[in-house]
Amino acid sequence: MARLKEIVGPTYVLTRPEDVVVYEQDAFLVARALPDIVVLPGSTAEVAGVVRLVHEAGVPLVVRGAGTGLNGGSIPIAGGVMLVLTRMNRIVELDPRNRLAVVEPGAINVDVTAAAAQHGLFYAPDPGSQTVSTIGGNVGNNAGGPHCLSYGVTGNHVLAMEVVLASGDVTWVGSRSADHPGYDLCGVVVGSEGTLGVVTAIVVKLLRKSQAVRTLLAAFETIDDASQTVSEVIAAGIVPTAMEMMDGVVMAAVEAAIHAGYPQDAGAALLIEVEGHPESLPRQMKRIEEICRAHAPRMLRTAASEQERLLLWKGRKEGAGALGRLAPSYYLHDGVVPRAKLPDVMRKVVEVGKAYGLSIGNLFHAGDGNLHPIILFNPREPGIMDKVVRAGEEILRACVEAGGTITGEHGVGIEKREYMRWMFSDADLMAMQRVKRSFDPDGIMNPGKLLPVGERPDVTVRPAMAAGMWT
Ligand SMILES: Cc1cc2nc3c(=O)[nH]c(=O)nc-3n(C[C@H](O)[C@H](O)[C@H](O)COP(=O)(O)OP(=O)(O)OC[C@H]3O[C@@H](n4cnc5c(N)ncnc54)[C@H](O)[C@@H]3O)c2cc1C
Repeated sequence: MARLKEIVGPTYVLTRPEDVVVYEQDAFLVARALPDIVVLPGSTAEVAGVVRLVHEAGVPLVVRGAGTGLNGGSIPIAGGVMLVLTRMNRIVELDPRNRLAVVEPGAINVDVTAAAAQHGLFYAPDPGSQTVSTIGGNVGNNAGGPHCLSYGVTGNHVLAMEVVLASGDVTWVGSRSADHPGYDLCGVVVGSEGTLGVVTAIVVKLLRKSQAVRTLLAAFETIDDASQTVSEVIAAGIVPTAMEMMDGVVMAAVEAAIHAGYPQDAGAALLIEVEGHPESLPRQMKRIEEICRAHAPRMLRTAASEQERLLLWKGRKEGAGALGRLAPSYYLHDGVVPRAKLPDVMRKVVEVGKAYGLSIGNLFHAGDGNLHPIILFNPREPGIMDKVVRAGEEILRACVEAGGTITGEHGVGIEKREYMRWMFSDADLMAMQRVKRSFDPDGIMNPGKLLPVGERPDVTVRPAMAAGMWT
């Protein structure tokens, strides 16, 4: 403990139960576990010093950004040391000429775009959590967002990273230039969920803002009509910058909280945005409206001002917060299906809700085929968790059977590590294990995450063990 305090300063080492309890959970609301020690470093040198010490002691190390992850990735299921990177939140360099920024891992996503906006630039990946989640956490989970339909996810916008390896050594992966020789280690580290190393600096691409943007709210009688519309827009060769869906259950809660002007009598609505040259947009929007009209929309409304457009997006981006109006808790799933299969799989989601007697809301990146069924429940109801988990599994199975995957953007963590077996053979998983071992031979980095390890460990509350080696 004394050595840890020497490295980061006594204020930034937490061990009292009332302090570490803050870090027992992320946004995967169905599991929790206490870290033994929480350390908040202020620099790469401090991170490296702490990691070296943890490596010597051979205890688990869990990295955490803002803790908004939805897969339990930052829950310390094996206890040990938690490294919280929120103090390392600086935008170190902004280089508009080369359209890049160098940021510390604790920088908040939306702050990067705010800084870039002064130069007419922006950082494209925009998770719904962008006002709180960190770029380090976005890298950890390879986060997506509404506008990733045309711009691509976090991995498409990271050029290079500084990484503290499990040994405490500091290295760089990737490069500032467009291409570089050798293995794509940057690609390996993005999405590795803190299992390979601690990312301590990130070089991100910045994009120039489009000249014009149009946003359409299209509301339909049923989820089926909205799903068919998504499928047909994509089949017509149109790629909007965003195409988000919200069902009637979620819309009612969001409207009551945000007053975004969403209709209250529709089964589902789409928020469709196109960007580009001002002259090209009306034609594109006209074609999208024609496709919507074929499904008897209840409402087609194009935002008439920037203020109205931002209000429509506020409803979408802050929608999850409004879910508290519907139930005391929720389990937010994340699966992907080929877009042509969206109508079929959405029907299956409705069927599963009925079969289990559960209310399921939907708020998701429809253009990507990235579903987010939100199972609403009251944790005090006896036996409810088992039902919620089984219903979720059935939905994810349907995604995989439709040719999709178990996660679009939230990652694997503890939540889905056993489902990795649905997608990968033993040989595939062994190859991933070998990659993990080459970065982290002693297995100290975020153990028990991402890869299946046999039986699921107990992830209910465990007492802090304050391991003797740290006293
Ligand atoms: C309301 C809400 C909306 C959301 N919307 C979206 C969305 O639209 N798209 C989306 O993709 N996700 C979304 N998420 C999920 C979540 O916000 C993202 O996964 C986000 O990237 C997590 O960032 P964080 O800073 O909270 O990371 P954390 O939750 O703290 O960590 C996430 C993972 O990354 C690892 N990690 C964190 N920092 C580092 C680092 N510096 N080096 C190495 N590993 C690290 C952690 O160990 C963990 O495994 C949403 C969550 C909420 C609550």
